[in-house]
Amino acid sequence: MSGSILITGGTVIDGTGSPARADEAVLLRDGRITALGRQAVDDAEVHGVDERIDATGRTVMPGLIDAHTHLTFGEPTGNDELFNHRTEAYSSMLSAYNARKVLRAGVTSVLDADCLWNIGCELRDAIEAGIVEGPRMRAGGQALMTMLGGTAGRMIKDEGRTGYATVVTGRDVMVNEIRRQIKYGVDWIKIMVTGLIPSMKGPEVKVWNIDELRTVCDTAHELNTKVVAHCRNSESTRDAARAGVDLIYHASYLDDEAIEAVIETGAAMCPTFTLLGNLADYGEKVGTAPELLDVFRAEIEVTAKQLTKAHAAGVKFLTGSETGFAVTPVGEWHARELEMFVDYMGMSPMEAIVAATKNGAFAMRMEDDLGTLEHGRVADVLVIDGDPLADVRILQQKDKIAEVIKAGKRIDLTTPIPEHKQRTSDQVRFLAACPLTRSLAFTEEQLERMSHV
Ligand SMILES: [Zn+2]
Repeated sequence: MSGSILITGGTVIDGTGSPARADEAVLLRDGRITALGRQAVDDAEVHGVDERIDATGRTVMPGLIDAHTHLTFGEPTGNDELFNHRTEAYSSMLSAYNARKVLRAGVTSVLDADCLWNIGCELRDAIEAGIVEGPRMRAGGQALMTMLGGTAGRMIKDEGRTGYATVVTGRDVMVNEIRRQIKYGVDWIKIMVTGLIPSMKGPEVKVWNIDELRTVCDTAHELNTKVVAHCRNSESTRDAARAGVDLIYHASYLDDEAIEAVIETGAAMCPTFTLLGNLADYGEKVGTAPELLDVFRAEIEVTAKQLTKAHAAGVKFLTGSETGFAVTPVGEWHARELEMFVDYMGMSPMEAIVAATKNGAFAMRMEDDLGTLEHGRVADVLVIDGDPLADVRILQQKDKIAEVIKAGKRIDLTTPIPEHKQRTSDQVRFLAACPLTRSLAFTEEQLERMSHV
């Protein structure tokens, strides 16, 4: 029971895509939206309310849904740090700290599709139990990879689990790993359909064949679990869609054949331009090679141009930020994807808001229950000091977020969250400074001596 709140005077953007309505009341009772407009005011008059919020001059809209986060990663600057310098218990505590920041940024729901160990499910449950304050979560486990790995090259072991990855070799291992993850509570299975092969020195290549992808989708679907795929080239998007993947991340450089597959199968899309956009704009600050910055920008432009066709054909688009890396720190960039959709895909601010609210409910597997301000829906509500339809970037300004309400409960936005330092042992640069990690050439004399041993 979370009591009742009457919000009056605000302009309501309900998340369905219908036009904004000025001076409309919204009534929240016991975690749900129970009335709108005149009916809300009348109900409050008759039955009373615990709290009232005057939203005059402000916008009232659904809480944002970020369909691509990594709350357990600890903002690494690279794969070495992420795979070799994290411990399970510390990462759990850090992700609980992170969850609060996400909620305060106006994000009331997230899909955290792959995580270190099984922290995602545990964090989701801790939030649901009221132990940790954070957004509503849907979680995956360790991302499924073939022996070719994902984006971390040879840091991924040939089998078993490393960091956020689990290598599945052969059909039986695949099926069993999916069953194991479901046993421990995942909502989604994540697969890395493309990976970087060091010897090929090029962009990511498809590392699964379609039969393997079908095995993953069929096994997960039989157990009422959805599949999300990381696809950084055209063939991977095409095959993922054909195999029955439910949600596709990135979909980079997709060609017309891949778009056809997406449109035909109805796979939802979460391109996650924010990570690439931040890398292009600020990558130098986290050590990204300067020659890569234009590559990232080109990937956004080429991909967005193609995805515009899928959007026009009615494919469902979700917003995702890939929050959790050094270039996408927690609580900061969740709403940039709306700006990217407007700038690169030609969406109207209203369409971008629908992507970030109503469509996001798909990632939460709550399509009939979440993401819009309609009678009976879960009461996840933001009050914004300004008009996101005039400039959608306003949602990125935390000082414009006047209220965050999750399941009918107002979130404290004023008590400061203490700043945190990065633990020294989690930093690669600490280890790089250690003399043992520097290359030490043997002298001629030493080599001579060793050759006689
Ligand atoms: Zn990701």
